[in-house]
Amino acid sequence: MNAYRRIMLAVDLTEESRPVADRALAIMKSTAAELHVVHVIEPLSLAYGGDVPMDLSAIQEQIHEQAKSHLAEFCDSIGVPEDHRHLIFGRPENEIQRTAEANGADLIVVGSHGRHGLALLLGSTANGVLHGAPCDVLAVRVGNTTEK
Ligand code: AMP
Repeated sequence: MNAYRRIMLAVDLTEESRPVADRALAIMKSTAAELHVVHVIEPLSLAYGGDVPMDLSAIQEQIHEQAKSHLAEFCDSIGVPEDHRHLIFGRPENEIQRTAEANGADLIVVGSHGRHGLALLLGSTANGVLHGAPCDVLAVRVGNTTEK
């Protein structure tokens, strides 16, 4: 079986991103693959529907600037160069898949909370990415790993 050549690591930029990144870094080192990082900003209009009675553009711009600097800080800390960083607007599961495909990734790495009950029914980003993914997907267990 061929080794992975290009990994797309999806990060929500919470403190859980580091253990997920560590898995991607380990695969990268053992296969000499290229590592790309994607963070998706969900537009406020998508999160709250189109009918919020105020102009959200200033807040959206602030969120964008903040995400840009957090992504830069995170990528600097794991040694991912600028041209391998992707800051995208849209729905995370769709945009993670699209960015992986557009960049020819053969592995997507995401975190997974291993939810159950109602949270499982509501779905997660990892589930969304897996369905219809253009390549292999590694879901790295994060959060409370002792929970059953
Ligand atoms: P969730 O269980 O939906 O909170 O998401 C778990 C994982 O999905 C995270 O560890 C990331 O790998 C990925 N993810 C969630 N939100 C985003 C986002 N906005 N941008 C990129 N990846 C994300």
